[in-house]
Amino acid sequence: MEEKKKNKSENFFYIENFGCQMNLSDSEIVASILLKCGYQLSQKVENANLILFNSCSIRKKAEISLKKKIDELEYLRKKNGIFFGIIGCISKSNRELLDKKIDFFLNPNAYKKIPYIIRSLNQGELIKKNNILSQKETYEDILPFRFLNQEKIKTFLSITRGCNNMCTFCIVPFTRGREISRSPNSILHECHLLYKEGYKEITLLGQNVDSYKWIEPNSNHKKKIIDFSNLLRIIAENLPFMRIRFSTSNPHDMSEQVLKVIAQNKNICKHIHLPVQSGSNKILKLMNRKYTREEYLFLIEKIKSIIPECSISHDIMTGFCNENEKDHLDTIDLMNQVKYNYGYMFSYSPRPGTYAYRNLKNNVPDHIKKRRLEEIISLQRKHSLFRMKEYLGKLQEVLIERISKKSDQYWYGKNSQNLGVVFPKKNFKVGDIVHVKIKTVTSATLIGNIV
Ligand code: SF4
Repeated sequence: MEEKKKNKSENFFYIENFGCQMNLSDSEIVASILLKCGYQLSQKVENANLILFNSCSIRKKAEISLKKKIDELEYLRKKNGIFFGIIGCISKSNRELLDKKIDFFLNPNAYKKIPYIIRSLNQGELIKKNNILSQKETYEDILPFRFLNQEKIKTFLSITRGCNNMCTFCIVPFTRGREISRSPNSILHECHLLYKEGYKEITLLGQNVDSYKWIEPNSNHKKKIIDFSNLLRIIAENLPFMRIRFSTSNPHDMSEQVLKVIAQNKNICKHIHLPVQSGSNKILKLMNRKYTREEYLFLIEKIKSIIPECSISHDIMTGFCNENEKDHLDTIDLMNQVKYNYGYMFSYSPRPGTYAYRNLKNNVPDHIKKRRLEEIISLQRKHSLFRMKEYLGKLQEVLIERISKKSDQYWYGKNSQNLGVVFPKKNFKVGDIVHVKIKTVTSATLIGNIV
């Protein structure tokens, strides 16, 4: 549907997203706040008079693309009454760099300040710089305006914010603050609303969902603790027809209880994203990742014994400070032991403000980082194909998400293991759950027919 032209009195906002699922979920919270201020959502940047950049600082690349986008759109800001704002994760150094190019910054825990910001901007007032990260904000009293998934079949729901883990390479604790969990009632209430709206799948979000913790004062003054395994069970049992996913887990905090709850509840999807970052104990220590490779592999064995059909994905970083060839081979060896279904692989990018940036030398040359990254990517491709072949001839329960990019005669969806499945359409529609018999595979896709 053609977006209607803006007339002088109307206010439109546009959000340019960078980074992770947490940022996308936050954009829907910001959208909800702006709609309450009488703004309307514009899918076209040139139609908006408030342009927000939801930034990411996890790697240099993300910061470069943010700056490029702001420079690209600078011509719009020269027009009267057009305001630029940066929200999301931004490092101090990048803030200083972009200070002159935008009208305001808002950290991820300060979005309720948007009405005050808009009023001040429209009154020509300068926005006071304030980067204090609230330690209490969960936005649980704000229902996100879910505009990012047009199909309205699957969505994110944040259950915690911030992170206490302080991995030495990570900027998140500085941009998103300390961990804070939402009340289980507000989470369950939102899940029920989503179910009524026809959503089929929810991904529970947090930088580290395993450290979810809600302390419920109860009648006899004894405190009742609701941890992640309790929360998962509550949601799964209350919404038996809703597919439940969660991301991101931390190996250090993942409990056996969580694995048992996943195994006992059919509607909790059988996939765990378990970042490892490195297979070398020396590097894990330097990263302040609070587990050893032995403990990580023991957890992998536990996952496979309690949930045999579970797929496992990872995050791995090459070229961290002081990483030598033996450390790299330890990572290769760990990958060969686990044979992950898929993963996200990057080379180390020093982040200003982090412990590693201040105290550790970025001493692995770029060409070695690059070579090591290529090696683990090609190894992962082999392992992905190996794992995909395990599904040949098997029946998969698939949620239809959209038309396949390969052909409009085919649907694309995901199975419980979060693996992509492509199959001829027949007379089914987006949002249907179908059973597909797998005929062939690639390293990235299962291909089959509805039975
Ligand atoms: S667990 Fe580590 S890498 Fe993940 S968000 Fe927290 S500090 Fe960053």
